[in-house]
Amino acid sequence: MVDADEISVRCCIAGGGPAGMMLGFLLARAGISVVVLEKHADFLRDFRGDTIHPSTLELMHELGLLDEFLQRPHQEVRTLGAQIGDEFVEIADFTHLPTHCRFVALMPQWDFLDFLAEHARRFPAFQLKMEAEARDLAVEGGRVTGLLATTRGGEIGVKADLVVAADGRHSTLRERAGLDVLDLGAPMDVLWMRLSRRSNDPGQTLGRIDAGRIFVMLNREDYWQCAFVIPKGGIDEIRARGLPALRDEIAGLAPYLRDRVDELKDWSDVKLLSVSVDRLRVWHRPGLLCIGDAAHAMSPIGGVGINLAVQDAVAAASFQPVRRSGSS
Ligand SMILES: Cc1cc2nc3c(=O)[nH]c(=O)nc-3n(C[C@H](O)[C@H](O)[C@H](O)COP(=O)(O)OP(=O)(O)OC[C@H]3O[C@@H](n4cnc5c(N)ncnc54)[C@H](O)[C@@H]3O)c2cc1C
Repeated sequence: MVDADEISVRCCIAGGGPAGMMLGFLLARAGISVVVLEKHADFLRDFRGDTIHPSTLELMHELGLLDEFLQRPHQEVRTLGAQIGDEFVEIADFTHLPTHCRFVALMPQWDFLDFLAEHARRFPAFQLKMEAEARDLAVEGGRVTGLLATTRGGEIGVKADLVVAADGRHSTLRERAGLDVLDLGAPMDVLWMRLSRRSNDPGQTLGRIDAGRIFVMLNREDYWQCAFVIPKGGIDEIRARGLPALRDEIAGLAPYLRDRVDELKDWSDVKLLSVSVDRLRVWHRPGLLCIGDAAHAMSPIGGVGINLAVQDAVAAASFQPVRRSGSS
C-alpha cells in the first residue's frame, strides 16, 4: 500500500481483547514499543467472558495491581454447585486454593479491558488505536514484517519485528497467514440471557441439569446471567417452537424464575453463542505469533477462555522479539 501512513514498532498486536491488551500492557511495561489495534470503538461487549479466575487474579497481584483491580465492581464466586434433578452437588470449592484470591471474580469484560488499557497507557512505549482493523499481513522474503490496517483516517501500515494475532476466534491474520486450524468440534451452542434477581433468590452461582438440559445461573447481584446449553445448531428448532416455549422450559428448570421469564420479550433478549472449539496446528510463522482464541477457541465450559488468553500473553511476553533495523 504505497500511500498508507506508516508506523514502526517492535511489536504490533491485532486485537484488544484479554490476550492483546494483557500482552500490550506487559510489553510496554518492559519498555518495548507496542501498538494494539482494536477494530471496535470501545470495549463494550455483553456476555463475553466475565470470569476472572484465581490464576489471573494472582497475576494481577504479581503486577501490583490487585487491590486497585478489585475496587472495580465485581462479584466473588467461592463455590460452584449443580442441581442435578433433585440432588444438589457441590462441584467446585475455590476456598482452598494457595492463591491470594480464593474466588472467581465476575467482572464485565469491558471493565477488565478498560483497566488494562488505563494502566498500559501510563507507559510511554504503549499505543492503543481503536477503530483500527488489521486486514492483511506485510510479508518480505517469507517473513511477516508488519501489517496493513483500516482506520477511520484511512489505511495505515505498521512495521514490526513481531506481529501478534490476538484477533479472536475468527482471526483474519491467522487466515491470511494460511495457518491450519484443527476443528475439534463442539456438540453444543449456548443461549445467553439476563433475568432479574430478587433478594429472596438463592445466592449461589449454580448449574441446573435435568433430562439432558443444562441451565447455568451466574449471580450478578441484581440479575442472573443465564446460559442455556442447547444442541449444536439447535437454535432454529428452538425459534420455531417459539419464545413462550423457551420461557416455559426455563421456568421448568428453575421454578422461581417463572414470575420473570416474561422479561425475555423478544429474540433480541436471547443471545446465541455459536460454540467452536479449535486450535492451530502451528501457532506461528516467522515474524507472526497467534495467541488467545486466535490460536485456540475454547469451550465455554468452566469459563476458561479469558484466563488462557491472559496466560498466552504472559508466556508470549517472556520472549522478547529480536530488534530489527528501522524499528524503535
Ligand atoms: C458469548 C461468549 C461468552 C463467553 N463467556 C466466557 C466466560 O464466561 N469466561 C471466559 O473465560 N470466557 C468466555 N468466553 C470466551 C472468551 O470471551 C474468549 O476466550 C476470550 O475473550 C479470548 O480472548 P482473546 O483476547 O483471545 O479474543 P477476543 O476476546 O475475541 O478479542 C479479540 C479482539 O480482537 C478484535 N478484532 C477482531 N478482528 C480484528 C482485526 N482484524 N483487527 C483488529 N481487531 C480485531 C475484536 O474486536 C476483539 O476485541 C465467552 C465467549 C463468548 C463469545
